[in-house]
Amino acid sequence: MAAKMHVDSLHEGTVMLEDGRLEDARDFFFEKAKAFVGENTRLPSIQGGQDGGGFRNDTYKDLSPIDRAALMACCNGMGKYYVAKRDFESALSWFEETQIVFLHMKFNSPAPMYEWKSFTLDVPELTHQRTVAFIGAAEIYEKLGNTATATERRWECSTAVVSLSDAHKSSPAMKRLNNTDKIAAAIQLRHPDPSICHKLSVTCPNLQVQGSWKKLTLKPATKTIGARQRFASFIWDSHLYVIGGWTGDIGFQFYKDFWCLDLADETGRQWRILPEYPLPVRALLSASMVVHREEKRAYLITGRSRVDYFDLVTERWGSIKTTFQATEEDRRCGVKNNWPFRGENLTDATVVINKGKIYTFGGQHADTNIGCNLFMELDLATKRWKRLTGYVMSPPDADYSIPGPRQSACGWVGPDGDRIYLFLGVATRDGPMATGKPELHGESESYPYRDFWSWSISEGKWRRERISGNPPITRTEMGYTFNEKLNKVVVFGGYTPGIPTMFPTQSKQCEYIYYADTFIYDYPQPGEESSKPPYTSADPERCTTPSSTSYPKWKQVLTKGFPTYRCHSQLNSDPDTGKVYLFGGYTNTDFVPSRNSFKSRPFGDVWQLRMDVPGEGGDFASVDIEEETRTANIGPWKRCFTCGNSGMWKRCSGACGGKAFFCGTECQKEGWREHKNYHSCRKV
Ligand SMILES: [Zn+2]
Ligand SMILES: [Zn+2]
Repeated sequence: MAAKMHVDSLHEGTVMLEDGRLEDARDFFFEKAKAFVGENTRLPSIQGGQDGGGFRNDTYKDLSPIDRAALMACCNGMGKYYVAKRDFESALSWFEETQIVFLHMKFNSPAPMYEWKSFTLDVPELTHQRTVAFIGAAEIYEKLGNTATATERRWECSTAVVSLSDAHKSSPAMKRLNNTDKIAAAIQLRHPDPSICHKLSVTCPNLQVQGSWKKLTLKPATKTIGARQRFASFIWDSHLYVIGGWTGDIGFQFYKDFWCLDLADETGRQWRILPEYPLPVRALLSASMVVHREEKRAYLITGRSRVDYFDLVTERWGSIKTTFQATEEDRRCGVKNNWPFRGENLTDATVVINKGKIYTFGGQHADTNIGCNLFMELDLATKRWKRLTGYVMSPPDADYSIPGPRQSACGWVGPDGDRIYLFLGVATRDGPMATGKPELHGESESYPYRDFWSWSISEGKWRRERISGNPPITRTEMGYTFNEKLNKVVVFGGYTPGIPTMFPTQSKQCEYIYYADTFIYDYPQPGEESSKPPYTSADPERCTTPSSTSYPKWKQVLTKGFPTYRCHSQLNSDPDTGKVYLFGGYTNTDFVPSRNSFKSRPFGDVWQLRMDVPGEGGDFASVDIEEETRTANIGPWKRCFTCGNSGMWKRCSGACGGKAFFCGTECQKEGWREHKNYHSCRKV
């Protein structure tokens, strides 16, 4: 195909932007972009560029490198226009469009490539436009206080060019964009960063909401739940249930015990022990439990054909025998002996329940440490399993029509009850190295995904989704829950292998990040129709901007304080009250300072997330944001009431009962009068 346009011919639009002729620049870039994609493609491709929705777009696939670079330049021009208009949501949607145009290059590869294969062409203009989009987006995320995604964009941008020639990647323009000082500053942050989070407020309600984490106080008991990770949990009848897991400290502790906490009992909350998992095993690790509300049973998915359940009324264990009849196609996809989960084992899979059917995606079984991409359905009425898509073991080539092999992805059933969503997760590529299993695709480093998918139950197919709004963009082992009262998904914390964190004061560097930030995937409220932006028009005046249309998108929940940075915590929503709770998880003490020298620290704490959102469940009325700004616990640290500095400060020992912290005697003196009035404190 002959090139339609060269990037140089877009210079005119750049000049308009520089001269402040913003509307002229918008019309210029929009018309040029429309000339590429035609009338029937929506730009930007929020809710899908073409009929059928989703990320994939045939027009983008077949572009020549020169056209591709020019289209990317148009999208970047639109992004810059909206930055100048301070419409950050629309700007982000255009910078994301640039990335989508670029990534479609991959769909032309002769053999489908797994997501972890980095690829690019040695075409400087392509790299330059992609870099503009990365940095344009990173600067907006920085303004919004989404430091995690800002850091990821800068890091990904600087590493995406590593394999390219020096002349290509080290041009003055590229060096200016890939500013090494800014990258160094970005990887020194934590997410949230104590020096930033208390200053953030909601400046862009389409992309942010105010929230507050509250640690629940429990009544002390002689026997109570131990701190743990890799447990299973759920909420039923306003009770939080937790089973199994382990802690990996000095002495390993393996659990198969089962606990229950009455969330509604605000003054007498205490863990109550239930009958432990009845099988003669040492522990129950990385399994999942889902509640069938009509049956009042919680089903435990471990990969066994005999599926255990806990009767929530009688509080007794039972089991059902399930079966799987492998077809020829199932056998081609790696099923042996009429059972998909090798070794009758499935861990760290993504498990959801919908209308009497349990779905599992990915996870590990006896023969894979990377994770698989098996997508299975168990019909509880017939007790039969069915393989919907995917492979028991990943074949040499990828398959672009289905999500890649992974574990620990977020998953939920969307509000319409017809779509199952799958977000991020990890291919544990260092798994085979550790275990010596002869698996394809092993490497020294794990790969955290950056993709988003949905499965239509009625259509029986996957669709790759665009990631819109202000998202967490790459991570795994995060807590997640779909809250049906609020019509939102909540995601907390997690872990990213492969992006470093630097601690210059301790001259230390970790090759990973642990998070304590919070996000929601916000569906339009009932009654507020999700409107498809009419971007198909070539007339920019007639095109509603992304920020004035309504569609599902990510928002960051800004919290003044937060539970310590961690992975493997679990979030659950109470379906009756709409309240959101967090339990457990663990952190690496290289990342989070601790008094002792353990390598990892498990948690056994319970938190509630309150959010300033419409509808029942947000529970925000009792939150005093001004007070939290000065006193909330910021992960492992305290904030000085007077100067706002964070550290391991001492609690006030006056009559307030320790409502404020001070970094030293000077701040204590200076802030004393104000604290006395604020918290009704006096010396004792
Ligand atoms: Zn101070
Ligand atoms: Zn006090």
